[in-house]
Amino acid sequence: MIENNGVVLVLSGPSGAGKSSLIDRIADEIGEYYFSISTTTRPMREGEVEGVHYHFVSEEEFKKDIEEDNFLEHAVVHGNYYGTSLKPVRKALHEGKLVIFDIDVQGNMAVKNRLGDITTSVFITPPSLSELERRLRTRCTDSEEVIESRLQMAKREIQRTAEYDFLIINDDFETAAGVLRQIAKTARLKIPHDVINEFVQRWEDIE
Ligand code: 5GP
Repeated sequence: MIENNGVVLVLSGPSGAGKSSLIDRIADEIGEYYFSISTTTRPMREGEVEGVHYHFVSEEEFKKDIEEDNFLEHAVVHGNYYGTSLKPVRKALHEGKLVIFDIDVQGNMAVKNRLGDITTSVFITPPSLSELERRLRTRCTDSEEVIESRLQMAKREIQRTAEYDFLIINDDFETAAGVLRQIAKTARLKIPHDVINEFVQRWEDIE
């Protein structure tokens, strides 16, 4: 039997796609997981909590972290820096957990390059651009300028959907949650290349 190892589940998609609500919905049903809390230089929004939604830092602190190689990946999104700290992710992987990232398309590529063999990626989107716009407007948390920039970004990001293992169209919430639950459970079954190679070595030695 191959020992339980840590794996990664990347979730990307426009804000308003329902990523957080979907994760909340299936949280009790996918076993032990660690949700990676990113570091960002963007200003804190109303209702956000330091260390819960993000680690909020200055641009200077962020750049220092880059220099010290503290990030698994980092990117500029909407003009702000975002990054995934390496240390807690390493720890969670060592503990055999499912590590969940909510990162953009650039982050997905970087994670795929570094941890591709244990990564499953999912792009989550509302059924259409007009539906995304409707959701962003009814949410009422963003200015007109921010909504416009999110829509432009969504149009660019959707073009890169083919870089993902799965696409979830969040039209009916319960259906989307069901699909994500299945994907999260299957993501756990991924086996790192070095473990597979060891297994093959051992398997060949057995008479
Ligand atoms: P928001 O500012 O609305 O919370 O997030 C904006 C975008 O940044 C979202 O697409 C989100 O997935 C992405 N993002 C959040 N954290 C990270 C991160 O650590 N790395 C990358 N590459 N993108 C991130």
